[in-house]
Amino acid sequence: MIKKLTLSSLMLACFSANATVDYHIDLTQPDHHIGKVTMTLPAGSVSPSVMMPAWRTGKYKLLDLANGVRQFSAKDSAGKTLSFKHTDKATWVINNPSKGDIEVSYSVYANDLGTRTRHIDDSHAFLDATGIFMYDPARRQEDIKVTLSVPESWNSYSGMQRSAPHQFVADNYDVLVDSPIETGVSEIFEFKEDGKDYQLVIWGEGNYDAPKMAKDLQKMVTASQNIWTGYPFENYVFMVHATTNSRGATEHLNSTIIQRKRFTFAPKKQYLSFLNTAAHEFVHTWNVKAYRPQGVAKYDYQAENYSDLLWVSEGSTSYFQAQLLLQAGLMTQKEFLKVLSSRIDGHLKKPGRKVQSVTQSSHESWIALPGDFAYNNSVNIYSEGFMASLAMDFQMLSDSGLKAGYSELHRELFKKHRLPKPFNAQDMKNIALDLTGKSYEKWWQENVESPLDIDFKPLLEKAGLEFVYPKKTKEISTTGFASTDKSGLLTLVRVYADSAAWKAGLTTGDQIVAINGLKVTQGSLKTRLAQYKVGDEVTLSLFRRDRLVEKTLTLTAKKDKKPVIQVVKKPSHKQKAFFKAWLGVDLKTKEKKKA
Ligand SMILES: [Zn+2]
Repeated sequence: MIKKLTLSSLMLACFSANATVDYHIDLTQPDHHIGKVTMTLPAGSVSPSVMMPAWRTGKYKLLDLANGVRQFSAKDSAGKTLSFKHTDKATWVINNPSKGDIEVSYSVYANDLGTRTRHIDDSHAFLDATGIFMYDPARRQEDIKVTLSVPESWNSYSGMQRSAPHQFVADNYDVLVDSPIETGVSEIFEFKEDGKDYQLVIWGEGNYDAPKMAKDLQKMVTASQNIWTGYPFENYVFMVHATTNSRGATEHLNSTIIQRKRFTFAPKKQYLSFLNTAAHEFVHTWNVKAYRPQGVAKYDYQAENYSDLLWVSEGSTSYFQAQLLLQAGLMTQKEFLKVLSSRIDGHLKKPGRKVQSVTQSSHESWIALPGDFAYNNSVNIYSEGFMASLAMDFQMLSDSGLKAGYSELHRELFKKHRLPKPFNAQDMKNIALDLTGKSYEKWWQENVESPLDIDFKPLLEKAGLEFVYPKKTKEISTTGFASTDKSGLLTLVRVYADSAAWKAGLTTGDQIVAINGLKVTQGSLKTRLAQYKVGDEVTLSLFRRDRLVEKTLTLTAKKDKKPVIQVVKKPSHKQKAFFKAWLGVDLKTKEKKKA
């Protein structure tokens, strides 16, 4: 059942808090994006240090969140000012000769919506503790309590236990960090499913249908039980920001924050993309939040946390997300196969897949570059991790005679490696061996530690599918670059490795002004290229660092349509059984084919 929630019903779970480290944040003057934090440390140390994290969970990049802190001060329980030293960028060491209680105060600037760390304005505040609340490393395991002072019309939500309308408690700082707080003017819907409580909290206006959203999330959540047995939470909060420019989502212990542009919740294709994100974050509640690879299991908030298995954390999550929607009936087989074909197409076209393995990509996440170099020389833990998961799933299903696949492997990880016990690559190989009776040492070396090279024809055939170009697909000429209009000039934003443009010596940033002596713009490029055949040589006039140069390029061929995945003509019983074992639903042969 879904109903609008009143604040009083949220108060039912009230209990008396017994917190040790006490936080208070004043958000009553939110216009200039400032929160005023007070943190009370109980008596103990003569020189305690407090620190601000350098990154936030789920984003494997250093963000140096101490950069928003100002007006740091400390006093003892008698109100006497205590001296302190700001010893490194994120650490304050306090001089506390009496060893009594300390009250630390500071203001924090919170005006960054897109990183999902901290945002305070006149309508709401989103508070991820890594960007807001400091911690004493010696007290990281002690109880915490957070109290918010907010404008009158605001309501507050979090995955943490509520002890008052604007107060939450948790077992320790790690739980606080993994339970962001959304407070402000929002819509809320709640539902109960499979014995667990769920809330959907939406901030911001947009073209969403909130009751339908809640109903569909309710259908999605139980599909998780096709992979795992049981839930790692009692209560789960879907927080949604309908915003202007921000897009993305982050997983947390028993909540997620999903940000989308406010008018991208419809039509169906956009809505499905929202559901895909919601499913991705929900899968994370098991994969990453309940079990996590060695290296990132106990977070070090001050430095990079290295793991060669981030492709499992992200890529396998991406791999399972659409399966949940298919199994919940929120996505048709046709829609599912369309997503799969575009992922495979993207993988095959990316030059970086021949350069980097998912192991290397995982290890280098903290220093991953965006853009042209990355496209040609890297893979990412999401899309390539998806492919490695697909490959391992099909291998395991084949090796086990359809008895166990990659879902069963994750079920075992949830059973055997609940945090704080991490897993490593050997654990995954051992589970695969237990489930299939076959060694995965060589497979791992070839597919995980080396660049992935999947032969999709035999792979998809196992499930009664084929990867083909639609009928009437033609070959057209191509340059091998991607471009955009910058100040009226056709500017290259990507040059694909080994393409015609690559061989002609073109590079990102080149501004092409003429083809064979006649002016060309971004708007006229397609028409101009259509005049030439595959194999034709064209002379390009371009500006490079303001100097006019000429390059000769020989046009090569590309298909004018995207490939699709379709069901083979007469799938065998064996193929149908494989499909069922893989996705948990029957293969439909009568869905309309695109080709
Ligand atoms: Zn993710």
